[in-house]
Amino acid sequence: MTSKLEFVRFPAPDGVNGWWESLPPAPPAQTVSSERSYDWVVIGGGITGLCAARRLAELAPDASIALVEADRIGRTTAGRNSGFFVDLPHDISSESYSRSVEADKADVRLQRHGIDYVRSAVRQHGIECDWRDDGKFHASVNKKGHTALAHFADGLSRIDEPFEWLDEAAIGKVTGTSFYEGALFTPGCSTVQPAALMRGLAATLPSNVKVFELSAVRKIDQRGGVNVLEFAAGRILAKQVVLCTNAYGATFGGHPNGLLPVYTFASMTRVMNQDEIRRLGGTRSWALIPADPMGSTVRRLGTDRICVRNHFAFRPSLEVSESDLANAKRLHQRSFDRRFPMLKGVELEYTWGGPLCLSANNGALFGRRDDGVYEAMGCNGLGLSRGSAAGKLIAEYALGESNDLVRQLLNQPHPRSLPVRPIADIAVSAAIWVKEFTAGAEL
Ligand SMILES: Cc1cc2nc3c(=O)[nH]c(=O)nc-3n(C[C@H](O)[C@H](O)[C@H](O)COP(=O)(O)OP(=O)(O)OC[C@H]3O[C@@H](n4cnc5c(N)ncnc54)[C@H](O)[C@@H]3O)c2cc1C
Repeated sequence: MTSKLEFVRFPAPDGVNGWWESLPPAPPAQTVSSERSYDWVVIGGGITGLCAARRLAELAPDASIALVEADRIGRTTAGRNSGFFVDLPHDISSESYSRSVEADKADVRLQRHGIDYVRSAVRQHGIECDWRDDGKFHASVNKKGHTALAHFADGLSRIDEPFEWLDEAAIGKVTGTSFYEGALFTPGCSTVQPAALMRGLAATLPSNVKVFELSAVRKIDQRGGVNVLEFAAGRILAKQVVLCTNAYGATFGGHPNGLLPVYTFASMTRVMNQDEIRRLGGTRSWALIPADPMGSTVRRLGTDRICVRNHFAFRPSLEVSESDLANAKRLHQRSFDRRFPMLKGVELEYTWGGPLCLSANNGALFGRRDDGVYEAMGCNGLGLSRGSAAGKLIAEYALGESNDLVRQLLNQPHPRSLPVRPIADIAVSAAIWVKEFTAGAEL
């Protein structure tokens, strides 16, 4: 019997996720430790898998559904990001986040659909995840950044989206730092404590979903029309499988899948004391992304910590080294010191990385594969809002529903395949290096 799907890369620790660490300890995980049967199994407990499992359960309340996660839900990438549910165009491969009017409008429609779905679950179940509908600031540090923001503003005007310009003094009043020369405020973005959200979404799934953690699927065989999923200590038999493993499903370098595991990194400070909070000034909580997509994302959290994200690295092995983490921490410290000279002595307590799943043409995988497995993978850096939508919509598609957004995802470009390795590795790493170098002052 040949396996129809073998899993070759699994989540690694990749540093210490500050969002997860600052939560109370998680209840013990339930693992796959015997043989069980389900109608549906969703693989991957990130935002995409969580939304897929929820939507399947809502639409098919009599079906039995398993959600299986290799690590703990909330500890992997969906729980280790910067927590921006971005509603607006956000093509990180473009210099100003925007694309064409039609593509931008389609992105906004899809992303808001995902945000609305998750927000309603948060409200319905009272999930404590610091959900805020406070918008975000796109800040620039020089003329080049300002020009990029002006392009972005033009793009927003073309699709009738509101925004507001802030001068140096106004953005300084928000952030407490004089580092930024101006900013564009857009009101539609929501922010969260991502690990708390993922845990909360898992804990409030409908009762026909059974969650297994610390349970990595190793391979899937087909036996008499049933999918047999093998784990280290058990197996699941399932009529249907939905694959939501994002970067862990990437097969690249000459292979048609075209998904690229590109890491990005974040650090979180310790909690600031009253004197440090006074020295910083500004408002209690804000969320800021850089004018150049390769610059630094910064959030001040309601918990009196600051979180900084920057730096990208192509890591086909799906794990980072100690030296990757040390390098990221050094870059974060430099970015922090440049922005917050008044916070000397506020250490970065946690540093971690996580894989994004990019593609050369911003394409993603959505639909039913030739082997009958459903898939929703390829976050392109924006998994919180796009993954929410893709997860919800793959469940609708798999249950035979059709609507405009399902059709939009079915018609999106397939990720462009890259040349064979190691040419692909060199090309991707070189592209990242050039983009980071040109981001310069925004880092
Ligand atoms: C530092 C950082 C900052 C970021 N900031 C933002 C942001 O502000 N906003 C935003 O939208 N995005 C952000 N991202 C990207 C975002 O985190 C991803 O787009 C998002 O996590 C994708 O969700 P997903 O569910 O599709 O995939 P993932 O979150 O990667 O989930 C896939 C899951 O599959 C599991 N898995 C893999 N293989 C197996 C297996 N064999 N068996 C069982 N389970 C398996 C993995 O453990 C993982 O939990 C950031 C990422 C990082 C690293």
